[in-house]
Amino acid sequence: MPLHSKDKGVNMGSLRDAIVNDERVVIVDHPLVQHKLSILRDEATTTKHFRELVGELAIFEGYEATRDFPLEDIEIKTPLEKCTAKQVEGKKVAIIPILRAGLGMVDGLLQLVPTARVGHVGMYRDPETHEPHEYYCKFPQDIDKRTCLVVDPMLATGGSAILAIERLRKEGVKDIRLLVLVAAPEGIQAVLENDPNVKVYTCSVDTKLSDTAYILPGLGDAGDRIFGTK
Ligand code: URA
Repeated sequence: MPLHSKDKGVNMGSLRDAIVNDERVVIVDHPLVQHKLSILRDEATTTKHFRELVGELAIFEGYEATRDFPLEDIEIKTPLEKCTAKQVEGKKVAIIPILRAGLGMVDGLLQLVPTARVGHVGMYRDPETHEPHEYYCKFPQDIDKRTCLVVDPMLATGGSAILAIERLRKEGVKDIRLLVLVAAPEGIQAVLENDPNVKVYTCSVDTKLSDTAYILPGLGDAGDRIFGTK
């Protein structure tokens, strides 16, 4: 059972320490990322600026999440002479936004990997139980041959991410990387307990979940802030 901040006896400090030190968790701590994240958190940030920042942070994060992509040699000719250069070895990628907030990260990642396909997973959170329910799912036909970047700005309880990852595993996907901007320790732990072979990329591991399953300090409802709804 995943630990929850409300569970008695769970020391959130030590859970967070364990998560931060887990080799499957990559915290993108570049100074520019941390600077942009602070603006993202600020309640005074406008919808337009928020949306732009989500796109920019997705690029930074995608940069880290693709760091191990293998390279191959190619022969090219510069204006001066022939030389051996590098190119990414035919890696197939799919970007899988969890609707709706995940959409905010897609364009940034497509700038990095323009040949990627985009699949969608639609989840809504039951307002009473906070449990996720799937209402839409559409993947590229050869999804099982692709590295899947599952994207959602917020990893709170982990419920939606777990469902999305389970759906991809059922399709035969082997390489799954979860890209979020802000994560609760409980959410990361739940994802990794459910599927130990996922790698999680985040700009921050925050303090804990609130009683209503919002991330603290977090940034509020990412979907509402990206799309200007409430
Ligand atoms: N989803 C959000 O958008 N924000 C949270 O804090 C938790 C889940």
